[in-house]
Amino acid sequence: MTTQTIPRITLNNGVTIPQIGFGTLSVPPDRTPSVENTTKTAEVVGLALELGYRHIDTAQMYGNERGVGQGIAASRIPREELFVTSKLGNGNHRPDDVRRAFDETMQKLDLDYLDLFLVHWPLPTLYGGDYVSTWKAMSDLLADGRLRSVGVSNFQPTHLKRIINETGITPVVNQIEVHPGFNNDAARAASASHGIAVEAWSPLGQGKVLKDEVISGIAREKDKTSAQIILRWHIQHGHIVFPKSMHRERMQENLDVFDFDLSPTEVATIDALDKGETGRVGPNPDTFDWLPSGANPTPTVKP
Ligand code: NAD
Repeated sequence: MTTQTIPRITLNNGVTIPQIGFGTLSVPPDRTPSVENTTKTAEVVGLALELGYRHIDTAQMYGNERGVGQGIAASRIPREELFVTSKLGNGNHRPDDVRRAFDETMQKLDLDYLDLFLVHWPLPTLYGGDYVSTWKAMSDLLADGRLRSVGVSNFQPTHLKRIINETGITPVVNQIEVHPGFNNDAARAASASHGIAVEAWSPLGQGKVLKDEVISGIAREKDKTSAQIILRWHIQHGHIVFPKSMHRERMQENLDVFDFDLSPTEVATIDALDKGETGRVGPNPDTFDWLPSGANPTPTVKP
C-alpha cells in the first residue's frame, strides 16, 4: 500500500482530502490526557503514518490532541502531505470561546496550521439553540491563515439549512454516523444537496456490523474481510472514512480496499441492511446534550 493509491476528494473550497484516514476516538480507550495516554496515542498515530495513513481525525473531546501532535512530529512526514482534522468541544460553543479553544487545539497539536476544524455537535437544546453564532465564529477563523477549511459534524438537514441561510457560509463537510446498519439517508441527501462532502463516522458501526451474515457472505465470495467489504461500500458511495483500530494488521487491512469493486447489486444489497433510527450506534444529534464537566451552556447570544 502506498499513499498514492488513496484517492482524494475535492471539497467545495478546492482543498483535497484523502478518502481514507485514521480515526482516534478512544485512542487510547481512557480519554484522560495523562503522560501515558499521550505516549500511547503518539505511538499509535506514528504506526498509522508508517502504514500509509495521511489523514488523521481527532477532537478536543477525545483528550488526545497532544499525543496526535507528537505522533505527527515524530514521523517527520512533510506537513503538506498530511491532512489533520480536529473538532470544537461541546463546552466551547460561545462565540468568544471558539478562538480560545482553537488556539488551544493548535498549541496541543503543535502545528502551524490545521486542515479542517468542525463543530463537533449542533447541541440544539443548549446555548439557547444558537449554533448559528458558533458556526459564524468558526468560519471567522479562516481569516488568519492557520485554518484551511471549516465544517460541521452531526448536523441534521434543518441545522444545515439554518446555518447556510443565516450566514451564507457552507461547510466543506458534514461528519455524520453512517454504516450499513444506519444509512442516515436524510442527512446524507441534505449534505449532498448543498455540495457538502459526507464523512462517515463509525464506518464499521464500532465493530457491530462486522458479523452481519450478508456482509460476511460477500466477504467470503470476494476473499476479503467484512471490514474491507464495508469500507469498500463507503468508498463506492463517495464517503470519506477514518476507521479506528489500534492493531497493526487491522489498520493495514482497513487501508487495503482499492484492488476490488462491489457490483451495483452488492452495493444495493448492503444498502438494504439499513435499520433506520434503531441502527444508530451513537446518540441522536437532535437531543444529544452532553457537556464536559465544568462547562456552562448559558447562552450569551439569543437565537
Ligand atoms: P469504527 O466504526 O471505526 O469501529 C471501530 C472498532 O471496530 C474498533 O474498536 C475495532 O475493534 C473494530 N475494528 C476496526 N477495524 C477492524 C477490522 N479490520 N477488523 C475487525 N474489527 C475492526 O468506530 P469509531 O472509532 O467510533 O469511528 C471511527 C472514527 O470516527 C473515530 O475514531 C472518530 O475519529 C470518528 N467519530 C466521530 C464522531 C463524531 O461525533 N463526529 C463520533 C464517533 C466517531
